[in-house]
Amino acid sequence: MTDSPDRSSLPDAPVRIRPEIAALPPYRQGKQAGSDSYKLSSNENPFDPLPSVLIALQSAAAVNRYPDATAGRLRQRLGARFGVSPDEVHIGAGSVSILAQLILAAAGPGDEVIYAWRSFEAYPGLALVAGAVPVEVPLDADARHDLPAMAAAVTDRTRVIIVCSPNNPTGPIVTHAEFEQFLAAVPRDVLVVLDEAYAEFVTAPDAVDGMRVLGTSGHDNVVALRTFSKAFGLAGLRIGYAIGHRRILDAARTTSIPLSVTAQAEEAALASLTAESELLERVRVIAERRDRLAEGLREIGWRVPDAQGNFVWLAAGDQATAVAEAFDEEGLIVRPFAGDGVRISVGEHESVERVLQIAASVVRTLPEGHSGRR
Ligand SMILES: *Cc1c(COP(=O)(O)O)cnc(C)c1O
Repeated sequence: MTDSPDRSSLPDAPVRIRPEIAALPPYRQGKQAGSDSYKLSSNENPFDPLPSVLIALQSAAAVNRYPDATAGRLRQRLGARFGVSPDEVHIGAGSVSILAQLILAAAGPGDEVIYAWRSFEAYPGLALVAGAVPVEVPLDADARHDLPAMAAAVTDRTRVIIVCSPNNPTGPIVTHAEFEQFLAAVPRDVLVVLDEAYAEFVTAPDAVDGMRVLGTSGHDNVVALRTFSKAFGLAGLRIGYAIGHRRILDAARTTSIPLSVTAQAEEAALASLTAESELLERVRVIAERRDRLAEGLREIGWRVPDAQGNFVWLAAGDQATAVAEAFDEEGLIVRPFAGDGVRISVGEHESVERVLQIAASVVRTLPEGHSGRR
C-alpha cells in the first residue's frame, strides 16, 4: 500500500473517524445509587413526580403514532406563559439538544465558540462536534463568569457565546447589569446563548433573567435556554425549550433530528405547567435546603462559592477525586471534576445532614492553607 492516509489518530476504530471526535472522551454518566445511599451527582430533583403529571403521561398512550413534530400545544402554552408568540419558542429533547442545534446552525469548521470554564461539561464536546474551535475563558476567583474577558475574547471567527447562569458546576449567577454590559460589548451578529437550566432555583434579586433580557429591544441575538429536567423534575423524559428570535429558532429547527420530542414528554410538560405553583413550592424547599447546606459547609470550614442552583461546589482542587471518594464510601454519590472541585446536588431532606457530617471530617484531610478551605 502506497500513499495510505495517516491512520495514527485511530488506533482501534475499524473505519476512519474524524480525529477531533476520536480524541473526545466518551460520555460517562454519574454512578447510580444503592438502596441506602443518596445520588447527589446529577442535579436531579429529589421529589417523586406529581400524581397529576403521571396521569398525563399515561394518557399519552398512542405510542404507535409519531408525536406532533413541532410540539405546538406546548409552544402555545409557553408563549402565553412568557408573553411571546409560539414561533419564538422551540422545544427540544432536553435543552442540551437545543444547544447542539444552535451551535450546528451558527458555527462551522474554524469558527469559534466561547464559554466560561469551568462550566457545563457538554459545551466543549458540542463545539467540537460542529467542527468549531472551543474558546474557554477562565472563571474569576469567586468561580463567576468573567464577562469582560469573554467579550474581549471575541474575534471575527466568533459565532456563539454561551453564558451559563447559575453556572454549573460552581453555582454563582451573572447579574442583570453585568449581562447588559456584556451584550453592549458583543457584536450584534454573534449568537449569545443564555443557559438558564437552573433559573427557577435562583433567589438572588439581581440575577439575569432571560425573559426580561428578551423583552428589551436590541437583544435579538440572545436565545434563552430552559429545561423541564431540573426544577420541574422531568429529567428522564428529555424536554427543554428555547425562547428567542424566530429566525434563529428556525435555524435550530433545521439542524434538529426530527420527531425527537415524544408526545409523553410534551404531555408531562403541559401538566407540569398546570401544576406550576405546586412544583415551584418544591423548588422553594430545595432552594432553602441549598442555602442551609452551603452555609453549613462554610461553617465547617469549606470555601463554597455563591450557590444559586440546586447544587453546591467544593473547591477541592487537586484533592477533588479523593474528596469525592470519601463521600462515596459513606453512601453519598457526588460528582468530582478532577483537579478542580466537587459538585454536590441538593437532594432529599435527610441527605443534607449526612453531607454536612461527612464534609466535617473530610475538610480536615485538606492540607492547611488549601484553596478548598476558608
Ligand atoms: C442540566 C443542564 C442542562 C439541561 O439538560 P437537559 O436535561 O438536556 O434539558 C442544560 N444546561 C446545563 C448547564 C445543565 O446543567
